[in-house]
Amino acid sequence: IGMNMFSDIVQTMPPYLFSQFQKKKEELIKKGIDVIDLGIGAPDLPPPSFVVEKLKEELNEPTNYTYSPYAGCKEYREAVAHFYEREYGVQLDPDTEVLALIGSKEGIVHLLQAVLNPGEIVLVPDPGYPVYRTAVHFARGKSVYLPLDAENDYVPLFSKLPSTIYENAKIMFLNYPSNPTTATVGMDTFAEAVSLARKHRIFIVHDSAYSFVTFQGFKAPSILQINGAKEVAVEFGSLSKSYNMAGCRIGYIVGNKDMIKALSIIKSNTDTCQFLPIQKAAAAALMSDHKSVQANNRIYEQRMNMMVEALQALGMKVQRPKATFFLWIPIFKEYSSAQFAAKLLEEAGVIVTPGTAFGPSGEGYVRLSLSAPIERLRQAVERLKQVNWEA
Ligand SMILES: *Cc1c(COP(=O)(O)O)cnc(C)c1O
Repeated sequence: IGMNMFSDIVQTMPPYLFSQFQKKKEELIKKGIDVIDLGIGAPDLPPPSFVVEKLKEELNEPTNYTYSPYAGCKEYREAVAHFYEREYGVQLDPDTEVLALIGSKEGIVHLLQAVLNPGEIVLVPDPGYPVYRTAVHFARGKSVYLPLDAENDYVPLFSKLPSTIYENAKIMFLNYPSNPTTATVGMDTFAEAVSLARKHRIFIVHDSAYSFVTFQGFKAPSILQINGAKEVAVEFGSLSKSYNMAGCRIGYIVGNKDMIKALSIIKSNTDTCQFLPIQKAAAAALMSDHKSVQANNRIYEQRMNMMVEALQALGMKVQRPKATFFLWIPIFKEYSSAQFAAKLLEEAGVIVTPGTAFGPSGEGYVRLSLSAPIERLRQAVERLKQVNWEA
């Protein structure tokens, strides 16, 4: 048996760079080495206590153990709509323009099953979140990289790309604030993307997972704030990062009715949405004021300030991000990003993610996650100081 039983689609999955590091990490831990894992993409902080309390309360309600409506319960969909109205002034019909998801990752993968035919082209950011590519692969589509350059702050130069790219593409992924680059955009970039999408009949899938993990007064826009965006765009959102609910698996898709309808057909034949108490706790989170999110962001900001200064003192040219809990760090030239990450793990017991895990343009960078207590980050800095970079 073995590989022969795997489908072609599984056998030809794009390689997953993280698994090698995971193995190495386990080896080191076995040897008694204390590994500081700054490779992770999930918050270390707990959800706000009012969310946990709401969850407990809903757990005690016997009727909550039945199947959820496929699209998510009304309370949750209405909370998402209310949230968009309050945060962005965007009106959404909770019945046709909002769909509950078991995390946005699930939604991204299933959306492509619902809208893509084999061989059709999808533009995916490079560097970008690896799930976009795997989702295209599962749908037997073709990923074409949307190039993003550090020189242009990782904002696509839409007008400079050959128009043939757009003519053949069906879907374009965007993700701002961005994992892994931490780049942010203003409304002008979204306006340009929407006008391009309308002209070339492309659909835009905007992933807004980090829209509320922002600093220095920055407020990330929604693509749905652009006039006409609903004709061509959907936006994915998640409570994983803003409310530290990553393990609860709850997110949403909003925007274009037709894409949402298509996704709902795949989903209603695949899953039966999320456990009702989780949806209701998430609704409470979205209906709340933003205090818990702001408190979270202040913690990330403290960690970020400490880490950026420490890395700059070590000679690294890292910039202070306006959003996300990552640092996107240009590395010393003599190393590839995989070599650099391997050296950090072996010599310092610190895990960072090689930039190439996010696409070929990630070469020359590593991503460091700030989702660890500040003392732990300080420890990591002390260890970085001990590494002999000349060897
Ligand atoms: C963490 C993350 C998500 C969120 O995934 P969930 O499935 O909602 O937990 C989506 N997109 C990006 C870019 C992320 O980093």
